[in-house]
Amino acid sequence: MSDTGRLLVCATPIGNLGDVTLRVLDALRDAHVIVAEDTRVTRKLLARYDIHTPLERYDEATAEARTPELVERIAGGASVALVSDAGTPGISDPGERLVDACISAGLHVDVLPGASAIITALVSSGLPTRAFYFGGFLPRKAGEIRRTLDSLAALEATLIFYESPRRAAASLAIVAEAFPGRAAAMARELTKIHEEIARDNTQALVAALAGRELKGEVVLLIGPPCADEAPVTDERAVRSAVALHLSEGMTRKDAVKRVAADLGVARNEVYRLALDKGEC
Ligand code: SAM
Repeated sequence: MSDTGRLLVCATPIGNLGDVTLRVLDALRDAHVIVAEDTRVTRKLLARYDIHTPLERYDEATAEARTPELVERIAGGASVALVSDAGTPGISDPGERLVDACISAGLHVDVLPGASAIITALVSSGLPTRAFYFGGFLPRKAGEIRRTLDSLAALEATLIFYESPRRAAASLAIVAEAFPGRAAAMARELTKIHEEIARDNTQALVAALAGRELKGEVVLLIGPPCADEAPVTDERAVRSAVALHLSEGMTRKDAVKRVAADLGVARNEVYRLALDKGEC
């Protein structure tokens, strides 16, 4: 294996083309090849900085076929710069697969940090930043969105999700149903001309966005539970605690009793949740 071969994971702007680091520009200039999700998007960045490195496609459709070939090229000494359409490659995009393959093959992987919509949205939202949870893209179906939200209801953290602009209003309505009264934000077109950050409680946000056709890129954020919010049962914690006690040889009755006492949940609720998952 050559010493010079490496994968350079390059963060690029999420909108404003000025938001790129000097180190990333050097890496893009010096790499043997740049692999990009959408070559048309990346071409604009390269044109702005007068960079002429060969550009190839590496997206969801081509990642499976292209990953072994790129690993081989890096092992043979190529320096490959990976960029996504926006922000940090590997965050909700196919870059994750190439990074994993290179690490598994024992190759050098350098991550060149920079913009990411998660952090920009979180700080812009004004919501608590002390602890946050990033859930990637929200599921598409209403029932799955609700299940995702329910599983996170007790988390003392700001919740962050990527969402398509077409589905954002409908998804927010489900958020408002699941978490009435919580603080929330919708961050759209961050760092771009039409940047918009709408902040309010969940129901007011739904009302404010009703009837609007949202365009561009959207991040949804939901604040941590309010102090006066009805306590929610952490269903996952109940299920895994029951499963753990059963695997340790405890009887079903004792496991339920113990979990009910440890987590402060009614015994019949523990039974219901554990049975639901088939653990009892
Ligand atoms: N790798 C990127 C990152 O580090 O943020 C994210 C890639 S993911 C495929 C694209 C999603 O990021 C969009 O659907 C949107 O939710 C969010 N996003 C990207 N740019 C954004 C922007 N300028 N404003 C708001 N959200 C953005």
